[in-house]
Amino acid sequence: MTEITRTVEQLVADVDVDDDGYVCVTVTQPLTVDEARDVAHAILQAAGEGERYLAEEGTAAAAVEPIVGIVHGVALIGYTSTTCCGRDPFALPAPDTITADDAAVTCRKAR
Ligand SMILES: [Zn+2]
Repeated sequence: MTEITRTVEQLVADVDVDDDGYVCVTVTQPLTVDEARDVAHAILQAAGEGERYLAEEGTAAAAVEPIVGIVHGVALIGYTSTTCCGRDPFALPAPDTITADDAAVTCRKAR
C-alpha cells in the first residue's frame, strides 16, 4: 500500500493513496479554514500521485503481452527440417510449435 500521510494534516485528517490508486481522506475532526486548505492541497497532491500510479500500472500491464509462438510446418518423413523455413525443429525458440496441418502454419517464410 502506498501511504501518503502528511504530517501537517495528521492531527486533523489523513490523506492516502491506496493500492487501487484511490485517494482516501479521513477527517478526524472539523477543520478550520486553514486546515481545510492544507487538506485540499494534500488531496490534490495525492490525486497526482494516484494518477501517476495508475499510469505506471497501465504501462506495466501493456508491457506484459502474451508471448505467441510461431507455428512451423513439421518435417516430412525422411527430412530433418521444417517445411516452412527449413530449420531444425529441435532448435526452434521455446514459444514456437510445429504442426502437420499446413493451414495452421504461421511462419512468415511459409510458401
Ligand atoms: Zn518456419
